[in-house]
Amino acid sequence: MGDLMKGKRGLIMGVANSHSIAWGIAKELAANGAELAFTYQGEAFGKRVAPLAEQLGSKFLLPCDVEDIATVDAVFDTLEKEWGALDFVVHAIGFSDKAQLKGRYADVTTRDNFSRTMVISAYSFTEVAQRASKLMKEGGSILTLTYGGSTRVMPNYNVMGVAKAALEAMVRYLAADYGPEGIRVNAISAGPVRTLAGAGIGDARAMFSYQKRNAPLRRTVDIEDVGRSALYLLSNLSNGVTGEIHYVDSGYNIVSMPTLEELKK
Ligand code: NAD
Repeated sequence: MGDLMKGKRGLIMGVANSHSIAWGIAKELAANGAELAFTYQGEAFGKRVAPLAEQLGSKFLLPCDVEDIATVDAVFDTLEKEWGALDFVVHAIGFSDKAQLKGRYADVTTRDNFSRTMVISAYSFTEVAQRASKLMKEGGSILTLTYGGSTRVMPNYNVMGVAKAALEAMVRYLAADYGPEGIRVNAISAGPVRTLAGAGIGDARAMFSYQKRNAPLRRTVDIEDVGRSALYLLSNLSNGVTGEIHYVDSGYNIVSMPTLEELKK
C-alpha cells in the first residue's frame, strides 16, 4: 500500500481472469492509488473481468479486440471524453495459434498465423501507443509484456518469439519517438507464469519446472512480482528510464547453462 500512483489514471489491456499478468499489475497499481480503466476481449472474458474491475473500483470496462481497430479507437475515444488525459497504459496482449506453439518453428509456421500473431502480439502495441500518446499531454508511461524467447531460442515458443522480438524493437523505436514528449515506453520480460496464454505453449509444465530448478533465484515469478516491477516502470520512480526491456524472471536470462546438479543428472 502506498500512494505512488495517486492522481494517475491508466488503462489496463489484457486481463482475462485473476491469473492474468495484467491483473497482478492492476492490483498493485490500484493499491498505490491509481484510477483504472480495463478492456476485455469478447463477452466470455467480459463476464470474468467485470467483478475484478469492480473490485478495484473501476468505472470503465470496455470491449476491445485489437484485430478490430474500430474497437481500439472506441476505447480511446471513451477515455478522452471521460478523462480527457491518460497517465499510463499496460498492454498485456498476446495470441498465436496453439497448434503452432509446439514442434519445430521451421515446420509448423504458416503465413496466416504468422501475420495474425504479429498483428495481435506486436503491431497492436504500436496502435495502442499512437492513440494513448495523444492523451498523454503531460507525459506518460506505456508498458508491454514480453518473454525471453525473443532473443534466445526456447522450445515451442516459435512464432511468438519472433513476434516478441518485433515487440521489443518497437519498444525502442516508440521510446525514441515519444521521448521528447515525456512519454516513456518500456517492457517487462517476465519469466514463465501459469496463465491462459502461458498454457497454450507446448510442454509449458516442463519449461516451468526447468526454470524453477535453473534460474538463479530457484523459483518462478508470480503476477505479484511482475506487478511490483510494473509499479516502478509506471510510476515516477522510473522517470529516467525508457526503451528498456526489464527482466522479471528470477534471473534466468543471465545464465547460459543449467545448474551443475542438472548438468550432472
Ligand atoms: P492471459 O491469457 O491471461 O492474457 C492474454 C491476454 O491477451 C488475454 O486477456 C486476451 O484476452 C488478450 N488477447 C488475446 N488476443 C487479443 C485480441 N485480439 N484483442 C485483445 N486482447 C487479446 O496471459 P498472460 O500470460 O497474462 O499474457 C499477458 C502478456 O504477457 C502476453 O503478452 C504474454 O505473451 C506475456 N507474457 C506471458 C508470460 C507467461 O509465461 N504467461 C511470460 C512472459 C510474457
